[in-house]
Amino acid sequence: MNARYSVIVPMYNEEEVISHTYERLKEVMDRSGDAYELIFVNDGSRDRSAEMIREIAVRDEHVKLIDFSRNFGHQIAITAGMDYARGEAVVVIDADLQDPPEVILELIAKWKQGYEVVYAKRLKRHGETFFKKMTAKLFYRLLSSMTSVDIPTDTGDFRLIDRKVCDVLRELKEKNRYVRGLVSWVGFRQTMVEYVREERFAGETKYPLKKMIRFALDGITSFSHKPLKIASYLGFLLSFSSFIFLFFVLMQKWFTSRTVPGWASIVGVNLLFNGIVLMILGVIGEYIGRIYDESKDRPLYIVRRTVGYTSLKEEEAE
Ligand code: UDP
Ligand code: MG
Repeated sequence: MNARYSVIVPMYNEEEVISHTYERLKEVMDRSGDAYELIFVNDGSRDRSAEMIREIAVRDEHVKLIDFSRNFGHQIAITAGMDYARGEAVVVIDADLQDPPEVILELIAKWKQGYEVVYAKRLKRHGETFFKKMTAKLFYRLLSSMTSVDIPTDTGDFRLIDRKVCDVLRELKEKNRYVRGLVSWVGFRQTMVEYVREERFAGETKYPLKKMIRFALDGITSFSHKPLKIASYLGFLLSFSSFIFLFFVLMQKWFTSRTVPGWASIVGVNLLFNGIVLMILGVIGEYIGRIYDESKDRPLYIVRRTVGYTSLKEEEAE
């Protein structure tokens, strides 16, 4: 089956929503009037998500399952989906129905006008904690102030990309993938539609604080060297101020009779600057760790099994 549209759905422990997601997607994509495939990438769920999709795939030939051997992360799941997608246009959407499937039709309409990337920008976010909204807002602004790549703010991975863009993205082999940044980086004719982000249909967020921090660090380190530069700016600033400080201390010693008391201040200043130095080492460590990851020639993900593909090779031979 040659699909015109591929819809990629990364899922991690989404058994409570996944059959609703399937129904809604099917309903919307049937309306598109073209051939399509729904690629569910199971990112090492420990619940019944994969099994449920497998059962659906048996009766609906639009549905495909890529089953990872363990949890590799949301961004990697999207990447795998792109590797398997065969459509002329590829759509990425969350499994939890926070991104309304109906918006896909708007994305497709823009694509038909000739745009190669159509991203969906969140006008509002419903049903998310104040903390999540605040940190997300701050993060997108921090990132855009740090990088010269024009990464749209308040935009997730919900978007449509043209086959050409998908092929280019697949050529980018970096391991710490921040997909929405990469899509901006590759260029092409881009546009957006706006939408209101819904509440999660069921279940809980699969992005706990730890994953959020890692995701943010991946975004920043992949697209900016600024944190490394901060070290040298700080170094200059500190050296300069200590030079002035020393100058005054010496003047006092030579030209007045006052002595300067206090070891507490020495300890305080020491702790402060040791803290700063360690922090900067940590920043450097974040980059070195990622260089190390890149240098290991491990695959991005491991697939345990696929369902719904006769054989990719056979299909290509057709
Ligand atoms: N997800 C994934 N692997 C992970 C974490 C999340 O594939 O390790 C999927 C998840 O199933 C969902 C999407 O990524 O389809 C976004 O996750 P979630 O909705 O939990 O994030 P939030 O909307 O709270 O930021
Ligand atoms: Mg969500």
